Amino acid sequence: MPFSDFHGNVEVVRRLREMLAGEHFPHAVILSGPAGAGKFTLTQMIAKAMNCLERPVSDGLPDFCGRCANCTRIAEADALEQRFAEAVEARENLREADQRETRIFVQTHPDVLIIPPDPPQMMVKVDQVRHLIREIYYKPIDGRERVYIFSAADFMKEAANALLKVLEEPPGFSTIFLLTGNPSALLPTIRSRCVHLRLAPLGREELEQYLARVRPEWKARERSLVARVCGGGPGGARSFDLAAYLAARQDALTLLAAAMGTRDHSELFRMTDAYRSGAEGKARTEQLIRLLYSLLEDMLFLREGTPELARNQDIQPDLVHLVERVDFPWIVAAVQRLGGVESGMRRNLLRSLALDAFATSLER
Ligand SMILES: [Zn+2]
Repeated sequence: MPFSDFHGNVEVVRRLREMLAGEHFPHAVILSGPAGAGKFTLTQMIAKAMNCLERPVSDGLPDFCGRCANCTRIAEADALEQRFAEAVEARENLREADQRETRIFVQTHPDVLIIPPDPPQMMVKVDQVRHLIREIYYKPIDGRERVYIFSAADFMKEAANALLKVLEEPPGFSTIFLLTGNPSALLPTIRSRCVHLRLAPLGREELEQYLARVRPEWKARERSLVARVCGGGPGGARSFDLAAYLAARQDALTLLAAAMGTRDHSELFRMTDAYRSGAEGKARTEQLIRLLYSLLEDMLFLREGTPELARNQDIQPDLVHLVERVDFPWIVAAVQRLGGVESGMRRNLLRSLALDAFATSLER
């Protein structure tokens, strides 16, 4: 799977390959972009090209073979979610005292270390950066370049400060990649020491064409909906869980209808009752809240006479029906209350009650 298999953002890919062809690759690179844009996929490709034993060239620029011992070992980490789950499980099987001291890493090649955010906080911790500091100043073992990949660069404060020290004295044979959806959350002093490249979201038409190729089993209107709501990343579009999206959207519509006082509350309570505690309930509630924001935004587009900007085109008649019942201040109030539900969730308030309160507080 060479660079030509990477979908979209050809300019960024070319720039990275030109840097590979040059004398010195930057010591630290921030690769930003929306979820599913391919930040990790592209970084893995760079790591392979840096260390490939065959070093093929395509279009006059460095590529990778995908077959040599270095490429194949690095590729074992392509399925990052799976490797991450294995590392977490391995830690859970340790004695309690060892668990506390063990940090999560994914490493399938001695010169390529992936540093994921450490659960349960899902932040990079200082011990993970210290591990990097212990080895980053040594020469590579089986490759030409050591590669350190922060797959989601959300740092605890102490970890960020430790990383900053490394960036102030960059080692010779190493490159650090910081992958993030939100580069502004990084310390300005870290940002100023990195080369920053951004993977832009793909346009709707480009995504639809891409989905026609990789998801031929989806109906054209399903591909069109996914292209509008997936956030612009090809990876996110390809693996989009349409069934979960449609179920959550139905719940969001029920909630909005109840908030407008047009439905019997028993239906609302039955629905919100399913949004309970636990990690699964949290993820579902987060998706429901994202959908409520998205539907309210669509309602604003309809109100303002720009229906073509609405994402959920396939249910426009339902949305028009909702918009007719409320005015602009109601939608603004709903958006504000939704912010309240989100902060309540961070304080671990009971989710189903927070959702009920959201709907009943807006009733008219
Ligand atoms: Zn290779």
